[in-house]
Amino acid sequence: MNERDSEIIAQILSDGGYVETSDIENTDLILLNTCSIRAKAEQKVMSQLGALRKAKMARPKMQICVAGCVAQQEGKKIREKMPHVDLVIGTQNIYEIDKLLKRSAVEGPIIATNLDDNYSIPQFIPDYNDAKQTNTFRKFVTIMQGCNNFCTYCVVPYTRGREVSRSVKDIVEEVQTLVNSGVIEITLLGQNVNSYAQSNTVTEDGSPYSFAKLLREVAKVEGLKRLRFTTSNPKDLSDELMSCFKEIDILCPQFHLPVQAGSDRILKKMNRKYNSLGYLTLVDTLRKYCPEIAITTDIIVGFPGETDEDFEKTMKLLETVKYHGSFSFKYSDRPGTMANNFENKVDEQVKSQRLTRFQKRQDEISLERNQEYIGLTKEILLERISDEEVMGRTSTNHIVHARGITDKNIGDFIDVSITDAGQHSLRGVIL
Ligand code: SAH
Ligand code: SF4
Repeated sequence: MNERDSEIIAQILSDGGYVETSDIENTDLILLNTCSIRAKAEQKVMSQLGALRKAKMARPKMQICVAGCVAQQEGKKIREKMPHVDLVIGTQNIYEIDKLLKRSAVEGPIIATNLDDNYSIPQFIPDYNDAKQTNTFRKFVTIMQGCNNFCTYCVVPYTRGREVSRSVKDIVEEVQTLVNSGVIEITLLGQNVNSYAQSNTVTEDGSPYSFAKLLREVAKVEGLKRLRFTTSNPKDLSDELMSCFKEIDILCPQFHLPVQAGSDRILKKMNRKYNSLGYLTLVDTLRKYCPEIAITTDIIVGFPGETDEDFEKTMKLLETVKYHGSFSFKYSDRPGTMANNFENKVDEQVKSQRLTRFQKRQDEISLERNQEYIGLTKEILLERISDEEVMGRTSTNHIVHARGITDKNIGDFIDVSITDAGQHSLRGVIL
């Protein structure tokens, strides 16, 4: 989501006459787009801002802007700690960034962090250069913002506000524009795509809608070759959506289904609204509809009150599902969340030990999973071509390095035979 927001900001600024530079000594603007999902990300922003104090003193006209979730969450506190910041701009205000920077240059520091419950995402058609010129054939399209789920550890509902979905028309129009310029792979983005269209009307006539319907609509865009989406909260995963993997040709066989924990007691304290059995049933159903589907997940270790026994249940779930990959994190206290006030916080050292154990086992499983591809022929979308090797991704989103010479170009598909597997990528030869 942040990456897509950065692109939007970059384009608004470019439309406003700004030119990107790596020359920090002479730039007119330094902008940090920030994430506050875990404390570490936020600390990094603060130390980067601290380091800019001197530069601002030397060149007072240079503007410093903080955008994104840290800006939203901390608001005026950022200026209290870092008075050299000119603009603090929240998650719903990024479309006004150019205007606010210009105003701040005249009037002084601005804090724009209002979150509106009735927000509607402005239609922002990318002024996108031809895909061939930029070698970018894969793009993200945001379909919704915010979140209403209030998982007890998570800051997103506070930093991104209430869930709101974009209209079907706006989304299809954006996808069509990208495809017209040569993009062939689209990833639809939302905090919980499964609840698309559940919080506001997304059709012109106000009729009920669903994410599965949106997928079918987007898949009709002629010229689109690969379609992906992320992320899904298991509590809202419908049979209608899972069956799309059988039905929609261009829907890539890949599913990111964050489980967070294997213990039902912890899942309840996290307010995830599903249990481990329900989750495993979803995994089985997905594999029934699409046997080749590559399932990945997110895990939090050391949630307040997580015992050794609870953690063993996460390890057991890992053994049962055998994920193709996972993102795992130590629980991090976030201000304003429910879990921040929970008792029985887990010792940092215990969290680290659990994380290491989980990741070690996941690495072994990822390797086993990747070895299953050895001997198979896979189609990859070319992202890099060098003298004797190419790099691209399979529909399951595996990176493949393949030896051989090709007359194909970046953005073309090519068949490769998989010969070798590592933990994080596959190797092969061009056919
Ligand atoms: N909307 C997505 C998650 C978005 S946040 C979902 O519901 O699955 C991405 C991931 O960051 C989460 O899945 C979770 O594993 C992790 N995360 C969120 N808050 C966290 C916290 N306080 N501490 C550690 N990890 C956290
Ligand atoms: Fe955070 Fe839960 Fe919403 Fe995901 S579903 S963004 S984890 S509150």
